[in-house]
Amino acid sequence: MIDLHSHTDQSDGTFTPAELVGEAMKLGLEALAITDHDTFKGYDMAVPYAKEAGLELICGIELSTKFGGATVHMLAYFLWEPPTAEFCTWLEALLESRRERNRQLIVKLQDLGLDITLAEVETKGRTLTARPHFGRVLLEKGYVSSMQEAFDKYLDEAAPGYVQRREVPVDEAIARVKAAGGITSLAHPVRVAKNDWDTLAVWVKKMADAGMGAIEVFHSDHTPENVAYYGQLAERFGLAVTGGSDFHGGNKPGIDLGTGHRRNLSVPYSLLAKLRAARP
Ligand SMILES: [Zn+2]
Ligand SMILES: [Zn+2]
Repeated sequence: MIDLHSHTDQSDGTFTPAELVGEAMKLGLEALAITDHDTFKGYDMAVPYAKEAGLELICGIELSTKFGGATVHMLAYFLWEPPTAEFCTWLEALLESRRERNRQLIVKLQDLGLDITLAEVETKGRTLTARPHFGRVLLEKGYVSSMQEAFDKYLDEAAPGYVQRREVPVDEAIARVKAAGGITSLAHPVRVAKNDWDTLAVWVKKMADAGMGAIEVFHSDHTPENVAYYGQLAERFGLAVTGGSDFHGGNKPGIDLGTGHRRNLSVPYSLLAKLRAARP
């Protein structure tokens, strides 16, 4: 069994890179990809632990991209060589735009009368500070009684605190990853095109035409019907198949590394071998 989709506390998970490697070893995973949002920090930190433990660790990332008006998560794997310096510089610029959004968000929340600082929020998010980290501080300070309320009242797109950040067009992300020697995979297609299967097929074709290499057929949120349909899409558009739990530790209770939601997941090692053979 392998897991090609997981998050550390360097993005929005709760496990440190060392703890995640430990969990993978406990489960007997044959390979693990760390796919933090917009950063390789967690992967980089996990490398020595994986080496010591004898775990096959795969360099991955999950990019937030724009397709039409929608946000689409695009996984990328660097299976053959590490990402280029050019790609890492591009990524750094993306992180900087997120930091700028965070600075604006803090100002708005302070204007709304809340006692909150960026330093407080950044202790929750480390490399990548995202809206859930703002929510957590608001919750701890008693401004809201749940994460849901934090989003509804302050952080959601319709809420007064919301600040739009720059997101990369999906075509650009696909091209960047390809140029850097990686392969892209459409993350959790169940959340794409509002799970309208016909529209999804049209979108996946466009992404495949743009150079996307794979689709995440197996995921904790996918029903057996989803899996069957996404498998068909992979065949139809000549895409490789990926799969993983999308493990976030305590930030997504009920999802286990490797086995997903109530053991609905078991991704075989052969899938990784095929992915490797699909070198773009
Ligand atoms: Zn995602
Ligand atoms: Zn994810």
